Amino acid sequence: MSPLRIIILAGLCYILYRLLFAGKKREKRTRHAASANSVPVQDVLVEDPLCHTYVPQKQAIRGVKDGKIYYFCSEKCCQTFLETKGDNK
Ligand SMILES: [Zn+2]
Repeated sequence: MSPLRIIILAGLCYILYRLLFAGKKREKRTRHAASANSVPVQDVLVEDPLCHTYVPQKQAIRGVKDGKIYYFCSEKCCQTFLETKGDNK
């Protein structure tokens, strides 16, 4: 038996093997949808002190004034509120 025939046979076996297992798709998807990093934020509604709109806390813009945290519906409200601070000059 010549070594060439052995190689060809081996190749044929390999091709057969591949053909047999080609139909089997890998469906092992290790998807961990549960994210450990995400903070469990509840949909707490916070009131915008400027326009008195209620905004979900996770969407609200945070602004700190006099050491207190305020929540705003938009960046604009936040800035306006923080700028109208000095009324006791
Ligand atoms: Zn607002």
